[in-house]
Amino acid sequence: MAIRIAYLYEDLMNTYGDSGDVKIIKYLLEKQGYDVQVENISLGMDFNAEDYDFIFFGGGQDFEQTIVAKDLQRHKDTLEKYINSGSPMLAICGGYQLMGNYYKTISGTTIDGLGILPLHTVFKADKRMIGDTHYQSDFGEVKAFENHSGQTYFESELKPFGKMIEGYGNNPQDGVEGVHYKNFIGSYSHGPLLRNINIAEEFCKLIIAHHKEKAEQA
Ligand code: GLN
Repeated sequence: MAIRIAYLYEDLMNTYGDSGDVKIIKYLLEKQGYDVQVENISLGMDFNAEDYDFIFFGGGQDFEQTIVAKDLQRHKDTLEKYINSGSPMLAICGGYQLMGNYYKTISGTTIDGLGILPLHTVFKADKRMIGDTHYQSDFGEVKAFENHSGQTYFESELKPFGKMIEGYGNNPQDGVEGVHYKNFIGSYSHGPLLRNINIAEEFCKLIIAHHKEKAEQA
């Protein structure tokens, strides 16, 4: 049975080469002999997270995020269940922001997120966080690129994905990057992130384990 990957709103959420994350995962899994199917889950489409072995949600500009955020609410329950049961998911930048409670943009509007993770994101005029990043993550060293105006803050106990060496990550104060909750990773890293092959390989391990577990249950 093929490994199924859901790419949420691929046509709208794909800034700075984020679709490369999915291409790298597909390439690495195929090299190991797996068949891999990638499906774009876009506006208005039906979606059952449990049908997939991996879910990817890329970055987007405020305009696209506004459109996507409304449609995304339909998938809150299925995504919450998927994440809480420990299934693997990667969300980058704009996608990461929408998994939290809200994102207050530069124009002052508040975009509602899914509220699956207790965090929120706010625009602050002091800086746009743009440039190279370097950090030590739970899966090893990462070198990437960030470009966001939203600053992300945890509202309660959450574990970040990495500790900054260079760049901003979640916000200019905390010195941490992204979030690591069960097998959900949220990150501000573009580049794409998974050109850091150590990180891509960790994701492949999680995806294969999840795929096998599902096959046993079927
Ligand atoms: N629009 C969001 C921000 O500026 C996310 C940007 C992105 O996904 N690259 O913070």
